[in-house]
Amino acid sequence: MTNNCETQACACHDSRHDEMATKGQGRAGLAARGLSLLSGGLDSMLAVCVMRAQGCHVEAIVFDSPFFKIDAARAAAAALDVRLHVVDFTTDIVGLLRHPPHGFGGALNPCIDCHALMIRRAGEMVVSMGWDFVATGEVLNQRPMSQNRRSLDLVARASGMADLLIRPLSALRLDPTRPELDGRVTRARLLDLEGRSRRSQMDLAAQYGIREYPSPAGGCLLTEKLFCAKLRDLMTRDGLDHLRDVSWLRLGRHFRLPGGAKCVVGRDAGENVRLQAESTPDDLVLRPVGVPGPTVVLPAAASTSDRLTAAAICAGYCDNPGSCVRIRLLHGTERHDEDIVPLARASAHQWMPR
Ligand code: SF4
Repeated sequence: MTNNCETQACACHDSRHDEMATKGQGRAGLAARGLSLLSGGLDSMLAVCVMRAQGCHVEAIVFDSPFFKIDAARAAAAALDVRLHVVDFTTDIVGLLRHPPHGFGGALNPCIDCHALMIRRAGEMVVSMGWDFVATGEVLNQRPMSQNRRSLDLVARASGMADLLIRPLSALRLDPTRPELDGRVTRARLLDLEGRSRRSQMDLAAQYGIREYPSPAGGCLLTEKLFCAKLRDLMTRDGLDHLRDVSWLRLGRHFRLPGGAKCVVGRDAGENVRLQAESTPDDLVLRPVGVPGPTVVLPAAASTSDRLTAAAICAGYCDNPGSCVRIRLLHGTERHDEDIVPLARASAHQWMPR
């Protein structure tokens, strides 16, 4: 787990946070300090605001991996002017994909274990810094399956950090946790939201001056059908040991060829550059000659038949390929050109994982 701390630009820094922090003092005369999980959705932003409103010092934390999109969290941290810790969660989430103790949700999303482990990691940081709490934006019964009382309790227990965990938006409907019991956090200034209505959150957003926020879903590729088809194919055929292959799931079109090799086809110039740059001596790189088209990568150990199929796919994705395209096969310092008849894209689609 690595932690990159991003201090937001302070042009709009609001000194009221610090003033409030000195007013809202806890047990030892110091403001309580905590990390708040920030997805970028409105509830996670409000959790930060509610804790800050009672004088706590709050920093935000987001977990990054090839499966998560964290742009919304960065934007939210900037809008709230809160320091954001970006923590690499790749090894953790890959481990959960292999063995999710509580299973998967509707796709390949091990949400209970993932959420619990994020809280655990945040809690470990809180403990190591001598801080007081971990906050999340969960709202009791907002999602019937994942945010009911049983699920919230389960996640808290599985995280091993139940004592430190505060759900500020629904805290008054949940049992008090340690920072509330010992007075570092004022329970009476936490909220009692419950249910699916978003009305209260919208009112709070207006109260806190939050004007823009993304829709609640959309930050996790493990819930997306097409992405999960590629991931399932990788898990079952090649495994998840090679992090480059895991990170390439977000890159290019993927084809599982008849002989068993996988080829990845760049979709634009940026992806072509990245595929070439991240290829290794174990890869074969294909490039069209004299016509714009994709970079294609497949294992150098692929069968001759799969190589020729990959070359035909490469030719088929070139711009105006005509009846034949010269494809250059690069392996280390070796190069070899072949004239290839393009394969129609619709025909190649049969090998895309579904
Ligand atoms: S949606 Fe994705 S990031 Fe969120 S808890 Fe589930 S698996 Fe983790």
